[in-house]
Formats: sequence, C-alpha cells, structure tokens
Amino acid sequence: MEKREKLYEGKAKIVYATDEPDKVVLYFKDDTTAFDGLKKEQILGKGVINNAISSMIFELLKKRGIPTHYIKKLSDREMLAYKVDIIPVEVVVRNYAAGSFTRRYGVPEGTRLERPLVETFWKNDELHDPLVCAEHIELLKLADLKDVEKMKELALKVNEVLKDFFAARNVILVDFKLEFGKTPDGRLVVADEISPDSCRLWDAETKKKLDKDVFRYDLGSLEEAYKELLKRLEEG
Ligand code: UDP
Repeated sequence: MEKREKLYEGKAKIVYATDEPDKVVLYFKDDTTAFDGLKKEQILGKGVINNAISSMIFELLKKRGIPTHYIKKLSDREMLAYKVDIIPVEVVVRNYAAGSFTRRYGVPEGTRLERPLVETFWKNDELHDPLVCAEHIELLKLADLKDVEKMKELALKVNEVLKDFFAARNVILVDFKLEFGKTPDGRLVVADEISPDSCRLWDAETKKKLDKDVFRYDLGSLEEAYKELLKRLEEG
C-alpha cells in the first residue's frame, strides 16, 4: 500500500489517497481547536495519542460486529481506513448532562440521564452545527431518514460497548459524537475518529475531566489528561 496525494485537510486530521481507490490514510495532527476553530493550539503528541485511542476503540467495535471504516493502524500518526462519503449529520449520545445540553436545557452538568439520549446535529461549520430533528434532516435533504435511523441505532450500540469498556477502566462515558459514512458499495459505517477530542470522559471517583474540555475551558494540561487516559486504557 502506497500513500498518495492529499485529498482533504480538516481541523485535526489530513486524508491522503492511496494506490487502492477504496482506501485512504488518515493522518492525526497535533492541532487542537475548540469553539468552531476560534481557540487553536498545537499540543505536542496529541495526534499520536488520538490515533492510538481511536484505533483501540475501532478494534473493539469491530470485535462487537459494529461496522466502521477502520482497517488498521499504520504508524504512530496514521490509520488506514475505507474511503467513505461522510454523511453531514453528527450523532451525539449522552449519558450525563454536559456541554451544549446543559447550556440549552439548564440541566446541571453531571446529572445522570434516565436513559441515553441521542441527538442529531447538522455538520456545518458556518452555521455552528445546529441541532436538527428528522423533519429538518428530510426537508434540508441532509441524509436519507432510513440511514439516520440506522445511525441512531448503531450509536446506541456503540454507547453500550464503550460505556462498559470505560467503566472497567474507572472512567465515565459522559457523552460522545459519531460521524458516519457510506462506502462506494453503499455500506453505512462509523467513520472519522473516536477519541477524547470527540468524547467527554471523567474519572469515575474524582470526576476529573480526561477530554477536550480541559483545553476548551483551560483546566490544566491537555497532554497530561490524554496521556493518563491512554495509560488507563492500555492497562485495561
Ligand atoms: N463534539 C464533537 N464535535 C463537535 C461537537 C461536539 O466531537 O463538533 C462532541 C463533544 O466533544 C462532546 C459531545 O460531542 O463529547 C457533545 O458535545 P456538545 O453538544 O455538548 O457540544 P459542546 O459543548 O462541545 O459545544
């Protein structure tokens, strides 16, 4: 497998073509952004940690029969994945109140939700990723509603797998965001990354934050928080 030209550069990753048309290389950068790119910094080694954590999580999902774009980890910063068309609807699953849910509905941070909540957001930087329901998705022609139903079901399955995985490592999965893609042969798969950039993760005892909120709200060293998380996940 040979890495070829750059296809796309996002805020945290670069996508490269390969000599096989159905596969791409994802390169994890150290760039860290929050608030739609308003806050931006380079955090040394972040890309290495996020590739390690994402790869570990995608391996776990694969074992549990959840379809993903992941093929294998290639190097410290590179992952091989199937090429997909990203569906512009982000799926967020919440187990506890935090972030925009707290801001929007006034429920205090850390409140346990009676059951997991699934929300959908339009992936649109200019409009700051607005919350959308099925009717918006249909009217704005963002995605096929049958696909969105499958995405929500898969997201709840991912939640069950990851909740237990993190709980066994003394970490609470507060919430997370998933992106989905379609392969050229029409398969719907979990895509992008699953890392502390896209999940809220708290120490089960102290409730210390081990995710991007450390960067968003200047709560200390992001590098230290991510390193601690990776260590716990590797120790199992
Ligand atoms: N999230 C993400 N990318 C986004 C928006 C949210 O990865 O563009 C993640 C975020 O890290 C958190 C979850 O999705 O784990 C829910 O985020 P929320 O809606 O609370 O938004 P925020 O408060 O981060 O703006």
